[in-house]
Amino acid sequence: MVNPVGILSTDFSPMEISEIQPLVSLEIKICSVNAVGTSQTPQIIYRTSKGRCSTFLSKAQFLNCLLCFLQIKQVNYGKIISYQLDNSGIEVVGNNGNYFFSLSEINAFLERYNRAILEKLEVELTGVGVIVRNPIKGTVAEVNNLGCSCADMVYRQTICKHQIATHLYLQSNGWGSLGAYLQQNIGKKWEENFLVMAKAAKSDLGL
Ligand SMILES: [Zn+2]
Repeated sequence: MVNPVGILSTDFSPMEISEIQPLVSLEIKICSVNAVGTSQTPQIIYRTSKGRCSTFLSKAQFLNCLLCFLQIKQVNYGKIISYQLDNSGIEVVGNNGNYFFSLSEINAFLERYNRAILEKLEVELTGVGVIVRNPIKGTVAEVNNLGCSCADMVYRQTICKHQIATHLYLQSNGWGSLGAYLQQNIGKKWEENFLVMAKAAKSDLGL
């Protein structure tokens, strides 16, 4: 049996991103991320259209964000042993090594993570990439192994909300990560993938 490649979105149940909670139920601009007290509870300080505010995140919620960030960046951390937040950034200790990320990069990511969930972005797998639609604004972006077609990715070279929505979608559908899904499709066109699948189906039928 050949591994199926180029699975279409119609093979999956509808997107489950709506079940993931945003960090804050408004668009945010993050000022700082801290670890507070002896329990080192993650806290974000941010601005919204209504002013400056702060929110504590559960450690599980923060860790989920961090895992999403590391997996989109395809950091080979192995397993996270611990992480340390300070004024300059976050140091992640994994069993494959230590990694440091600046606070500006983490802040930019958390803002977009929140936005991807708030905007209820819709994800469609095409076999060689991913189409992400914004149902409210009607805009479309294409995510592939090189990144994303949107201005945020092209000009700011940051992880964009489309990549985050894609990652959350793929995870909830058992693909693991964007890298894992796209790796199966690099260099292959949908038609080629379809031929492989048709061949496998034929041999399964004994033809
Ligand atoms: Zn994008």
